[in-house]
Amino acid sequence: MPPSDPANDAQQVMTSDKAAVSRALNLVEDRRPESHARVAELLAALKDAPKAAGGHRVGLTGPPGVGKSTLTSALARSVRQRGRSVGVVAIDPSSIRSGGSLLGDRARMSFDPTDAGLFVRSLATAGEVGGLAYAANSAVRVLAAAYDLVIVETTGVGQSEIDIVHVADTVVLVIQPGSGDVLQFLKAGIMEIPDILVVNKADQEELARRAVADLHGALQTAHAVGATAGQDASWRTPIVSTSATKGTGIDELIDALAQHRKQLETTLAARRRQGELRWAMDLFRRKHGEHGVSTLGGIGQLRARAERHLDGGETPLSLCEHLSREYVAALGKTP
Ligand code: GDP
Repeated sequence: MPPSDPANDAQQVMTSDKAAVSRALNLVEDRRPESHARVAELLAALKDAPKAAGGHRVGLTGPPGVGKSTLTSALARSVRQRGRSVGVVAIDPSSIRSGGSLLGDRARMSFDPTDAGLFVRSLATAGEVGGLAYAANSAVRVLAAAYDLVIVETTGVGQSEIDIVHVADTVVLVIQPGSGDVLQFLKAGIMEIPDILVVNKADQEELARRAVADLHGALQTAHAVGATAGQDASWRTPIVSTSATKGTGIDELIDALAQHRKQLETTLAARRRQGELRWAMDLFRRKHGEHGVSTLGGIGQLRARAERHLDGGETPLSLCEHLSREYVAALGKTP
C-alpha cells in the first residue's frame, strides 16, 4: 500500500474522520527518519485547524495503578453524554507494540467503538529517547484538530520523562489514597503543582478523606514556599475526589476542567505558544546538542530566532528543520 498523503489526511482529520485520525497517528508513531518530513507536513496542514483553538487539551498523569485509565473512560463517557467529542491518547513509556496492539493495552478502558465522536488510542514509545515528548506533542496536535476535548494520559510523577505541562492546557494529577510520596514531592517543591488534583478511589472513604486533608496541607505548604511559581496566581488548585469505578465525582471533575479552561481564556494562546517553542528547542537540542545551540549564537539568540520563525507561521517541526539548515550552513562557514 502506498503511504497516504499527509496533507490529504489532515483535511480528513479536520472532519473528525476516525480512519484518517488513525492513519495520522500511525505516521506520528513511525519514528524512521524518512517519516519526519511527512509528520512535519501533516502538522503544518493541521496548524490552523478550526477545532484546535477552541478545544481543550488535558494531560492526565499520575503513578501506575491509581486508576487513570478507568477514570479516563468514565470522564470520556460523561463528556460524550454532554455532547462534546473526545480524543484520548495514552502514552506509556514502558509499552511495547506487539502485532499491532500494545502489551498491557487499554483493556481496562471500555469504549463504544461505534461512537464517531470518541477516539481512543495508545502510542508505543518504548526505548526511544525523546520518543515520549515527540509522540505526545504530535498526537495532541492531531487529536486537537479533530475533537473538542483531548486527553493525554501519561504515567509518572516527579521527574516524569515528559513535561506534560508543555503539551496540555490543563494538567490533572491523579493519585490514590495512601500515596505519601506525592505529598512529599509537592511539599518539597520537586513537583510542579498540577492545575487540578484528583484523589481517585474515593470509595475507600476514610483513607480518601485523609488523603484530601493531607493534600490541602501540602498545597498550602507549596504555596508558602513559592513552589507555585509559573502558575496563574489567581488559580487555586482544586482537589476533586472521584471513584472511577463507581462513577462518582466525575461531574465535579468536568466542572473543574471547565473552570480551568475558562480561566485560561486570555492566556491560553501564550501558554500553547510557550509549549511550541519549548518543543522546537528540545528537538533542536536533541539533534545538535550544545554545539548546535552555541553555533547559532547561544540559547537567548536561538530562542529569539525560534520565536520569529513561529511568528512567521512555522510549526515546531518545520522550525527545527529550518534551524538545522542554519546550523549546517554555519558549520560550513566555520574555518
Ligand atoms: P492506571 O494504571 O492508573 O491506568 O490504573 P487503572 O485504571 O488500570 O486501575 C488500576 C486498578 O484500580 C484497577 O484494578 C481498577 O479497577 C482499580 N480502580 C480504578 N479506579 C478505581 C476506583 O475508583 N475505586 C477502586 N476501588 N478501584 C479503582
